[in-house]
Amino acid sequence: MVTGPSGVGKGTLIRALMDRVPELELSVSATTRAPRAGEEDGREYHFLSPEDFARRVERGDFLEHASYAGNRYGTLRSELERPTPVVLLEVELQGARQVREAMPGALRVFIEPPSGGDLRTRLEGRGLDSPEDVENRLEVAWEELAAAHEFEHRIVNDDLARATDELVGLVATIVGTQPRGAPQ
Ligand code: 5GP
Repeated sequence: MVTGPSGVGKGTLIRALMDRVPELELSVSATTRAPRAGEEDGREYHFLSPEDFARRVERGDFLEHASYAGNRYGTLRSELERPTPVVLLEVELQGARQVREAMPGALRVFIEPPSGGDLRTRLEGRGLDSPEDVENRLEVAWEELAAAHEFEHRIVNDDLARATDELVGLVATIVGTQPRGAPQ
């Protein structure tokens, strides 16, 4: 399970990890946020209406769920019923705490920025979120950074190749196979 503040580069790191450890499968989360340009339902997220999301919470369909910067996000239990032995979850802090309770044996990794200022630069630079969303995300980010000590594994994303190596090394301890070498 990977957690870290918005703008820390989790997505890029996770894509690099998946290239190196083919046994891993990424859980597709559900969310009530609107799809961004290029996002497809069922690929990046299962995009649900607030009503559908609430109904599925009531039904007990979620392993964990949380509100984040004005929207709801959650991991559907059905995502963990894949045949693959290792499923990767990308969740924010509240979800990470719920996963710790529900699956105490899960490997939980927190991704940290080299400095707080980097988050703003990245969030503004990627141009995916409105200025208001950027501020909301930064506010949550400070809270998440303050909770980094709750995670047994922390990786500073100061350099993509180095951080990927570190993450691959951690995941290899539970996947039990040799990861592919770093791409040349
Ligand atoms: P974004 O809107 O940038 O795609 O995601 C916002 C935040 O929601 C990120 O911190 C991301 O890790 C988190 N997130 C994505 N999927 C889930 C999920 O299934 N559960 C929880 N708790 N958080 C999620």
